[in-house]
Amino acid sequence: MAATLLDGAAIAHQVYAQLKERIRNLHARGVQPGLAAILIGENSASQIYLKNKSQACRDIGVHSEILRFAADCGESQIFTTLQNLNADPRIHGILVQLPLPSQLNSERILQAIAPVKDVDGFNWVNLGAMVAGRTLLAPCTPLGVMTMLDYARVPIEGRSAVVIGRSAIVGKPLALMLIARGATVSVCSSKTPDLRQYTGMADILAVAVGNPGLVDGSMIKPGAVVIDVGINRLPGGKLVGDVDFASASRVASKITPVPGGVGRMTVAMLLENTVTAAERSVGLG
Ligand code: NAD
Repeated sequence: MAATLLDGAAIAHQVYAQLKERIRNLHARGVQPGLAAILIGENSASQIYLKNKSQACRDIGVHSEILRFAADCGESQIFTTLQNLNADPRIHGILVQLPLPSQLNSERILQAIAPVKDVDGFNWVNLGAMVAGRTLLAPCTPLGVMTMLDYARVPIEGRSAVVIGRSAIVGKPLALMLIARGATVSVCSSKTPDLRQYTGMADILAVAVGNPGLVDGSMIKPGAVVIDVGINRLPGGKLVGDVDFASASRVASKITPVPGGVGRMTVAMLLENTVTAAERSVGLG
């Protein structure tokens, strides 16, 4: 059996079409959604990520600006900038591109973004809301996974879901979102002694680790839906996920590719969060 591909680019395209409609409504009220990104230092991957985000903004009619700081800048400079952005009515979404140079405390900086403008969903107010079963602005990658499952009409309620990886920005919030939708969820980590015991019972298996080939077809329940969040660059330069795609796609019913899977959804959800924040700023949504 060959699995159906969950095509992140195609689903993101549909998300953008809906966002354009919502943006037209905002324009009609004199509001242009605005996203401000803070980039500190010269990290080349960060620059590429931000370039892609800015391009996506331009494509759908969201104003975007990048505020650049030297790698040796001080925290107070960033706090002052965040205070100004928090108060700026033209800006509805703020993100700080990670990772940050080592002298900066990323946790303190992320908490200085106003929760209503925290479009990456990393502020504790937004993360904490998910514990209460509420979504204010959710982290983009897990939100993208849930959106993919919904577009592909994957049943969630009553299903067994396994999330491998328990980071605060991917694995843990994804588990909370699956719980909120009525799945029975197991969360595995590097401390889990026998991954196979869990993966083998998953109707929905999401892998967010950063370890190429961690999961192969022999570990997957036949017919499972497999979501590969991992992004790993092999020594030769090839980009792969955490799942051995060749063997897994022979067992799964649906599977995401890497690249072209969850990564495309993450950017789309950033824009969705920005539009949502802009709508809320004028009392919509
Ligand atoms: P992280 O390093 O913060 O967390 C990794 C998690 O994996 C930890 O909870 C750890 O316990 C677990 N883990 C490590 N080794 C394991 C093992 N052998 N077995 C089981 N669990 C193990 O990483 P993160 O920020 O959550 O990102 C995870 C992966 O997802 C990375 O490859 C990252 O590049 C990718 N990512 C992709 C997107 C996207 O848009 N597609 C977005 C964010 C992160």
